[in-house]
Amino acid sequence: MPLKACRDCRALSNGSICPNCKSSNLSDDWSGLLIVLDPEASKIAAMMNIKKSGRYAIKVR
Ligand SMILES: [Zn+2]
Repeated sequence: MPLKACRDCRALSNGSICPNCKSSNLSDDWSGLLIVLDPEASKIAAMMNIKKSGRYAIKVR
């Protein structure tokens, strides 16, 4: 099953609900995979306002 990205927080999901914010507003049209292991140490995570570790899409359409 292809991964989908949440339009609200950009977390990637392999189900129909975002594991991060529980939104069902998911898109299969996304690009750029960002894996955040330690959001407090990651400048990219801070820039993208990511507060939890996990897999994220850089762009979601
Ligand atoms: Zn989400």
